[in-house]
Amino acid sequence: MYRNLLNKLNDYQVILVAVSKTQPLDRILALYEEGQRVFGENRVQELLQKAEKLPQDIQWHLIGHLQTNKVKQIIPVVSLIQSVDSARLLAEINKQAQKAGRVVDCLLQFHIAQESTKFGFSKSEAVALLESEACAAMTHVRLCGVMGMATFTDDSELVRAEFRQLHHIFTDLKAQFFKDAPYFKEISMGMSSDWEIAVAEGSTMVRIGSLLFGPRN
Ligand SMILES: *Cc1c(COP(=O)(O)O)cnc(C)c1O
Repeated sequence: MYRNLLNKLNDYQVILVAVSKTQPLDRILALYEEGQRVFGENRVQELLQKAEKLPQDIQWHLIGHLQTNKVKQIIPVVSLIQSVDSARLLAEINKQAQKAGRVVDCLLQFHIAQESTKFGFSKSEAVALLESEACAAMTHVRLCGVMGMATFTDDSELVRAEFRQLHHIFTDLKAQFFKDAPYFKEISMGMSSDWEIAVAEGSTMVRIGSLLFGPRN
């Protein structure tokens, strides 16, 4: 499965984030030994515990909701925080990154699904953030793009429309705020059930768990 998926994604130059939440260390290590280096976790504690025991050259992405009181712990370990869903959280990441003496790469998470439970910015909220002086003064975060999750549904046209919407948000923000910022380039969208649609709609990074590891408990 892994090789097959990787070959397809490589054709499109799409980055594979292997979502290892709930998976035991040996299964993660097995994928590492096949060459995978980018892994995604949705809980801070689980990410930290795994990072401590697994090879140091793994790039850990946080893909789940991050509480401000856990930012400090994650800063030394994380390579990309994909789930920045509020201005307050971004400010806290900036503050703790500054204290730790590093610049942390982040994606802005957008609410594109119809479900009301999913976290994320609306386009106008993100514009307000990016226009703010507070944001301009954040020297220790680097915004590298956008992330979103489509509605969990069999309706592939709805999923496609949502991914297309995220791509438009990316394009607009790029033009308005990041024209001269080559690092603002990622559109993280696509999971096990919808990655092919996401890639067709311009995803640069897919987050795939169950397709690689089998169903979670
Ligand atoms: C769990 C999770 C995924 C992966 O889900 P699969 O359906 O197992 O591929 C992707 N993104 C986020 C934010 C997740 O929480």
